[in-house]
Amino acid sequence: MKKHFYFAILMLLAGYCLSANISIQITGQSKAESLNETTFKSIRYVDMDDFNSLFKAIGKQDRSDNRLYLHIYDEQFIFLEASPYYTYKTTSYNMYYPLLRKGSKLYLPSIFVTEHLQTHFGSLVKRSGKTLTIAKPKDNSVMTIVLDPGHGGKDPGAVGKKLKAQEKVINLAVALKLKHMLETELGVNALLTRSDDRFVSLQDRTRFANDKKADLFVSIHTNSSKSTQSKGLETYYLSTAQTSDARAVEALENDVVERFEGGSAAKSKYDDLNFILSDLSQTEHLENSNSMAINVQQNLVAGTKALDRGVKQANFYVLRGAFMPSILIEMGFISNAEEEQLLLNEEYQERIARTIFEGIKRFKFRYDRIRNT
Ligand SMILES: [Zn+2]
Repeated sequence: MKKHFYFAILMLLAGYCLSANISIQITGQSKAESLNETTFKSIRYVDMDDFNSLFKAIGKQDRSDNRLYLHIYDEQFIFLEASPYYTYKTTSYNMYYPLLRKGSKLYLPSIFVTEHLQTHFGSLVKRSGKTLTIAKPKDNSVMTIVLDPGHGGKDPGAVGKKLKAQEKVINLAVALKLKHMLETELGVNALLTRSDDRFVSLQDRTRFANDKKADLFVSIHTNSSKSTQSKGLETYYLSTAQTSDARAVEALENDVVERFEGGSAAKSKYDDLNFILSDLSQTEHLENSNSMAINVQQNLVAGTKALDRGVKQANFYVLRGAFMPSILIEMGFISNAEEEQLLLNEEYQERIARTIFEGIKRFKFRYDRIRNT
């Protein structure tokens, strides 16, 4: 008790950890937000991370000269660590108190928030008393992810050799678990191309993602091979070029068009239409699709200890025509007795969903930063 008392007194004397907060009302939002303040040597500061998340500001630091480039409402501010001066539109401004670094964290003097912002953004930031009313900052972060459990209804997908497990059932089970994680832990809107056992054409799957203005598209499948020895995980993104074993998986997943969507006439319709569409849609996203595939594959392999078959490119109908970064995951071989059993196991399905989730989360973090700058 006594120890705590002395400690509290010491902290007070040092002027640390005196908290207050700035109330922020975002226009059009019912509840006011609050920006916590911390006091260092009796100067009030806000945590840069808190500021950035509230204003959707993006900071990029140049470690060589300690400059911080901060984008607020699409305008660039240049701060200098340990300096009270910053530059905005070629003019230098004085905050009187320096931008502070404490370990890995940066602290911005509160005065910048309460005084300077309204000087620079008169129409967007207004102060009355202790409350700042600010215009809703533009947020280009990933908000909507479409999950696409492959196959369904009359199309069972691949079928296991030993236990006769159906791919469509496993795909849906994992997608439902993943949806729950994305919504509850990442706060995004996760939509399914099918949430029960029904047939959905490949074209309707991407059309759904485009209509919903999804930011990411993730198609979920299990693999199959003539050889019962084949095993492991692989993640694909779209390409017209492919390796020979990627071509086999491509044929397997594209097969649905010929078998269930009206034969070879439908297939050539897909070929004509999507050749044009894919050129327009996925080329722009190839690099990001590749990054997402890498993040997901790495997490899948680390989390499941399954064989790493790598990130591959193939020409999947279901990825063509999607106007967003898109991947297709093959979670393991249903044709391999050992993996078939695993894929049917609910705990294993949970683990797969968890690792895909971690991969998407990691990708989203970087992708949001790029898109918000
Ligand atoms: Zn499949």
